[in-house]
Amino acid sequence: MTQSPVYDVVIIGGGPAGLTAGLYASRGRFSTLLIERGLFGGQIATTEHVENYPGFPNGISGMELGQFMMEQAEKFGLKTISAEASGIELQGGLKIVKTSEGDLVARTVIVAGGSQRQKMAVPGEEEFTGKGVSYCATCDAAFFQDQAVAVVGGGDSAISEALHLAKFASKVTLIHRRDELRATGILQERAFAEPRIQLLWDTTVESVEGKKFVEKLRVNNVKTGTKSAIEVSGVFVSIGFRPDTDYLRGILPLDSAGHIITNERMETDIPGIMAAGDIRHNSAKQAITAAGDGATAALSVERFLTESR
Ligand SMILES: Cc1cc2nc3c(=O)[nH]c(=O)nc-3n(C[C@H](O)[C@H](O)[C@H](O)COP(=O)(O)OP(=O)(O)OC[C@H]3O[C@@H](n4cnc5c(N)ncnc54)[C@H](O)[C@@H]3O)c2cc1C
Repeated sequence: MTQSPVYDVVIIGGGPAGLTAGLYASRGRFSTLLIERGLFGGQIATTEHVENYPGFPNGISGMELGQFMMEQAEKFGLKTISAEASGIELQGGLKIVKTSEGDLVARTVIVAGGSQRQKMAVPGEEEFTGKGVSYCATCDAAFFQDQAVAVVGGGDSAISEALHLAKFASKVTLIHRRDELRATGILQERAFAEPRIQLLWDTTVESVEGKKFVEKLRVNNVKTGTKSAIEVSGVFVSIGFRPDTDYLRGILPLDSAGHIITNERMETDIPGIMAAGDIRHNSAKQAITAAGDGATAALSVERFLTESR
């Protein structure tokens, strides 16, 4: 890459947060460059059907939704490149975004790199993702009406997912590697009171199996070493989120799990650096909330650039 021009805003990440920020910033006539290291559209582009994004009463494929977001932003002048960000340096009033394609110079940066659900890292997990393996009960529970499913995890999000799934599934087996849950008391009480939820303590998943779709899980009792199989059509993995912010350590304020801390305007402690979407602390981790964060972050960029002129 030749010497970078000075962009008004560089956006890291091309998911719903980044693409919405790109739409708002370029429509506001700010020179805007978005960098994406993988699939434009982000996580939502990996899911087959999205039923809870407003404006699409019959749902929409995740891939199409991502493409629409990108098309709409590009229509207003958003520029995009395929590159991975590996750092941000402050140079006077400017920000230097270090990337795999060279340094980019910007007046402001919006970090919208998302967050990935922690994986179990067992055979079959990758292969059946979207075919019975899910990381989002809010998104996919309705596809498992009257079917048996499992949830893996023991924290608040696992219990919330199990309770949500119990409204749809015939049976929810909650698989937890310990003999007590980490979730808050009230959630535990609700889970124990829900007849459709059964707990499988001291158990880990060894593999996910099936033909085209998930059919069973092979599990291991970590105390007795007993191995068995449980028949399910779906498995919801809820063992935590991992925001990809290692390269921002020491530059931006992060919470203990590595999410970027912002105020309600999506501003970080560093003037001119905003964060939006799943990557930020307390995000609801939904496409619509990520898009909302992206819009808010771009409006904060606009305010920052106008005030610093
Ligand atoms: C299987 C699945 C199904 C889902 N279904 C639904 C649903 O039905 N409804 C719903 O509302 N939500 C759903 N979600 C959640 C939703 O997809 C996310 O909440 C949303 O995509 C978050 O948007 P984001 O822009 O913050 O992050 P992401 O979508 O994660 O996008 C971030 C992007 O940044 C890129 N990136 C990260 N780091 C860098 C870097 N250093 N340099 C360059 N690029 C980088 C990543 O490659 C990624 O493309 C689902 C998630 C999954 C995984």
